[in-house]
Amino acid sequence: MKLVSREGWGARASRGSTRLSSTRGVKVHYTGSRVDPRLATDHARCDDAVRGIQRSHMDGNGWNDIGYSMVCCPHGYVYVGRGPHRLPAANGAGLNSGHYAVLGLVGSSGLTEPTDAMLDGIRDAIDYLRREGGAGKEIKGHRDGYATDCPGKALYAWVREGAPRPGGGSSAPAPSRSVGRVPAWPGRLLTQPPVMRGGDVRTWQARMRERGWRIAADGAYGPESESVCRAFQAEKGLAADGVVGPLTWRAAWEAPVT
Ligand SMILES: [Zn+2]
Ligand SMILES: [Zn+2]
Repeated sequence: MKLVSREGWGARASRGSTRLSSTRGVKVHYTGSRVDPRLATDHARCDDAVRGIQRSHMDGNGWNDIGYSMVCCPHGYVYVGRGPHRLPAANGAGLNSGHYAVLGLVGSSGLTEPTDAMLDGIRDAIDYLRREGGAGKEIKGHRDGYATDCPGKALYAWVREGAPRPGGGSSAPAPSRSVGRVPAWPGRLLTQPPVMRGGDVRTWQARMRERGWRIAADGAYGPESESVCRAFQAEKGLAADGVVGPLTWRAAWEAPVT
């Protein structure tokens, strides 16, 4: 699960919250407005989008915080909104204590089709809210019990299917969905640290931060590290042979970063 903490996406402080011990389940949402289609291929825009929703909920609607419990981007990242054990605000008056609110970052125009990664992210968010927030078994759409088109045709059809994990587990094959081509190196966000040892990693990360890059997974050396490292090198023309090592990374931080 690719969880993005409130600190991770630069959330403003909540103005207050009401504690929830448990819910009957989760309701799935879309934004109900246009979502910039450039999000599909540029994860660097997702943090901005989440901050924009929080801003409009706090400054426009006058709410205490972003209305959603969790937000899932097209790249499978799961952002903590109000989070577990906090009353959401997105389901409609009187309906918030019954279900947590999970947003799939698609809208009524622009970007409207959830990617498989987003559906996996929504499932991750549901599992997380069950584990951490006492969410019950129900998975519904905003329109269940409230007059709205939310969560839109595509997400609602998926909710009605029982919100299956894409391509996995169930006997019925998952419907094919359009998946945006997601670059391994999305914008200026590094989701995995490079494959390196000891102090070199910290030095490299510090230098990249000075140059305006963000590193989402500090110090975790997962299997994706090497591919991200190579993608970066390829993009910057640093190592045609794909060799990963301290010398190459020294070249990386000394090279101009555009
Ligand atoms: Zn909704
Ligand atoms: Zn994203």
